[in-house]
Amino acid sequence: MRITFLGTSSGAPTRTRNVTSQVITLENGALVMLDCGEATQHQLMRAGLRSSRIERILLTHLHGDHLYGLPGLLACMTIHERRDPVQLIGPTGIREFVATVLRLSETGLSFPLEIVELSGERVLESCSGVALSAHPLVHRVPCFGFSLVEDRRPGRFDPAKAAALRIPMGPLFGQLQSGHAIRLADGTVVQPAQVCDPDRPGRQLVLLGDTQDASGIAAAAQGCDLLVREVTYDAARTDKAQQWGHSTSTMTGRFAAEVNARVLIITHFSSRYTDGAGDGGQTVATLVDETAQACPGTRVLAADDLWSYEVPYREQPLAD
Ligand SMILES: [Zn+2]
Repeated sequence: MRITFLGTSSGAPTRTRNVTSQVITLENGALVMLDCGEATQHQLMRAGLRSSRIERILLTHLHGDHLYGLPGLLACMTIHERRDPVQLIGPTGIREFVATVLRLSETGLSFPLEIVELSGERVLESCSGVALSAHPLVHRVPCFGFSLVEDRRPGRFDPAKAAALRIPMGPLFGQLQSGHAIRLADGTVVQPAQVCDPDRPGRQLVLLGDTQDASGIAAAAQGCDLLVREVTYDAARTDKAQQWGHSTSTMTGRFAAEVNARVLIITHFSSRYTDGAGDGGQTVATLVDETAQACPGTRVLAADDLWSYEVPYREQPLAD
């Protein structure tokens, strides 16, 4: 699974950061979009991602900087004569929002749009081998975080064990590797477990919407491979974070440590934090440092617009 950040600014776009959207590319090439701020379509094109591959759109909450790109995206899917269904999942109210925009703009859709409204914790229909669940977070409006867990993978095939059992090299190897028992010429049945290591976990991504308190997803996020959470403010602005229902660097770092996340990507930066040094302002690099201090066991990275991150499997080392 790969995550691509299409927008990483909070509230309003800047010259270098658009408002929030992320896209997860699943192993079969299907796309799951998380939030859809204004101008997300432009960012999709710049990232080389095709809206025709989007199967699900998850909305964390109904604030405009996470939502206002949605009507345009749905309308353009119709212009492109989409026929495949889209599932839209978001807090209660999303059905009314979409129906109202489509009605007032007299827009009909060329494809089935299935809307799922969330009002509490919920296990959702799985998508292309990925289990999906939604968990409520504390924000100024109803807001959710999502957990995506890949199916377990078959264990590694061990050619030495196969040779010891006199299994001829060829298609039987593939059958065992994909989890099927085989029968040899002499009638012996070989089970996959005799020649394969134990199966291995898939990856877990935990993607949070805006929040000042993510305890509602803490249990589901334990030991996740990737956590994505906002850092709208630096550590000194806790009052502001509480006032607006957002997180500081320290709040997000502490949560990553609490759930033992392997990698944390921070995003949703206030425009007061600049990208480069030398202009006297506070930088995103400062936010990374502050966050990392609160979660020494977690790798902390900062998102940029159009940046992609391939989530490593547990047995793979983290790249430097
Ligand atoms: Zn918000």
